[in-house]
Amino acid sequence: MPTYTYPEFPYKPPVDLAGHQPPVRKPLVVIGAGPVGLAAAIDARLHGLPVIVFDEDNSVSVGSRAVCYAKRTLEILDRLGLGNFACDKGVSWNVGRTFLDEEEVYRFDLVPEPGHQRPGMVNLQQYHLEEALVARAVEVGVDLRWKHKVVGVQVLDAAQGGGARVALQTPDGAFDVDADWLIVAEGARSPTRRQLALDVEGQVFQDRFLIADVVMKADFPAERRFWFDPPFHRNHSVLLHKQSDNVWRIDFQLGWDADPEEEKKPENILPRVKAMLGDDREFTLEWASIYTFQCRRMKRFRHGRLLFVGDAAHQVSPFGARGANSGIQDADDLMWKLALVMKGQAPEHLLESYDQDRTYAADENIRNSTRSTDFITPKSRVSKTFRRAVLQLAKHHPFARKLVNSGRLSVPSFLVDSVLNTPDTELFEGRMVPGAPLDDAPLQHLGRSGWLLAHVGQRFVCLVFCQGPEGAPLADDLATARALAATVPSVHTVWVLPPNAQPDPTWQGADRLIWDQQGLVAQRLDARPGTCYLIRPDQHVAARWRSFQSSQVLAALARATAQGVQI
Ligand SMILES: Cc1cc2nc3c(=O)[nH]c(=O)nc-3n(C[C@H](O)[C@H](O)[C@H](O)COP(=O)(O)OP(=O)(O)OC[C@H]3O[C@@H](n4cnc5c(N)ncnc54)[C@H](O)[C@@H]3O)c2cc1C
Repeated sequence: MPTYTYPEFPYKPPVDLAGHQPPVRKPLVVIGAGPVGLAAAIDARLHGLPVIVFDEDNSVSVGSRAVCYAKRTLEILDRLGLGNFACDKGVSWNVGRTFLDEEEVYRFDLVPEPGHQRPGMVNLQQYHLEEALVARAVEVGVDLRWKHKVVGVQVLDAAQGGGARVALQTPDGAFDVDADWLIVAEGARSPTRRQLALDVEGQVFQDRFLIADVVMKADFPAERRFWFDPPFHRNHSVLLHKQSDNVWRIDFQLGWDADPEEEKKPENILPRVKAMLGDDREFTLEWASIYTFQCRRMKRFRHGRLLFVGDAAHQVSPFGARGANSGIQDADDLMWKLALVMKGQAPEHLLESYDQDRTYAADENIRNSTRSTDFITPKSRVSKTFRRAVLQLAKHHPFARKLVNSGRLSVPSFLVDSVLNTPDTELFEGRMVPGAPLDDAPLQHLGRSGWLLAHVGQRFVCLVFCQGPEGAPLADDLATARALAATVPSVHTVWVLPPNAQPDPTWQGADRLIWDQQGLVAQRLDARPGTCYLIRPDQHVAARWRSFQSSQVLAALARATAQGVQI
């Protein structure tokens, strides 16, 4: 019995779209209902934008693809309304263990400090995440059109209304739709990228991996386990992950010479799995496929009003779990900017910062994934010998552990070079520099335990750290914040009270007070009374100061929205 039944989403005949001349024009079109297109579309709705999504298929991703969703992605999913789903349905883990032969040589912990809501990673089959994203998209009013294949995209000039003309093929025939803005989220093959002959550069690796998803009841702890040269799969690597529904994902390295068709046959897979799990372990094979991989990206992710996201824009090998994770982070970076531009609240060139921020992040992801892939799949005798020496030394010598690379797993980019940042003019310690994704921390809000990240995001937020122990912000803090609210309603002010200041629930602004009862918010942000942080809608730090002044916040806001700034 398979553990998952693939849904079939309803096809809606395009009576409202087909047969119009000129074609129907839509403000925002997304091509592709994979995890990234869906995340972008949900975010669009949360920003109040109308959005239509076309997908050539009418189900979720088939088989075993993405497994690991990183802490930052879970935090974005929280903002989109799906963080609890991912954590409840998936398998949380923090510890990764690396073995040589059968001996453990290295171990890492993704979240070594307490006081974060989300774990380092959650393992969840991609089809589960996509099904939940589809349900959420429907809930927030995304117009989803299944079995609508995009067969051509033409860039329109200003005389034609700008944007792009999208040619569609459906079971009821072909027609065109015009888009003011077009998000291309159609995956690694990206027909639009090819058709428009847009550059993509990078490296193709010569190796093959077999994926075997097996269903079994096993009490192995929820950890990532990676073996180099284990006795059950000599001269190759093996990776084991626990997913939901008792499905375990095993990746066997096969080498470039392996015949994919032969290797996919159950009679060849089962002995490999048995050699690993032992003859006594009962399991059923749920899915098998072979993958190859590449690390590459488009030169630019923005082409006028065409915005490329996810695998359409960049691809990495799976060893850092950086594909879907970074794609969802693309959407997170893009959508608040696009919303401001589409609403006329920021100039169009704000979107250049999407291109800059996310090509920077893609380079970081490609660099890390390439290094992991080089270590996991060494191509010369010398590099194999070097790897074995590193692994042998790592057991006893800390310096060698730094060189072990069984996958540097997805972490968000610190956008320190973003033109939207206001550089520090005062001294701060710690890692929450302008451009950093804000660290989470526990707090109290309206008498309940909560988390910092739930109070920032979706709009610009000014975090103001107050003096104790009055139980409400100081008169000065209040006056400046009210002045700010009056002039710039798009900035939401939140006051952080120190541990020695119990908030007064009767204060009229109590819902904007967070109580840093354990002092971890101030500690992680190196905040003192008076410190102020301006946080972008995607929860990255835009600016910070040691005291709160409306004029500074306004200037930083202008910079973060590219007003009067040439990008
Ligand atoms: C073996 C493997 C393991 C992986 N493990 C991880 C992991 O652990 N963590 C991680 O983050 N990532 C992982 N990834 C990567 C992850 O699967 C991809 O990065 C992710 O699916 C990209 O999402 P996307 O929405 O950009 O594209 P896709 O998921 O490819 O979605 C594209 C969508 O566009 C639609 N489409 C395509 N062409 C058209 C067209 N012409 N018209 C209309 N619709 C179209 C498709 O039907 C599809 O729904 C892994 C990948 C593989 C292969």
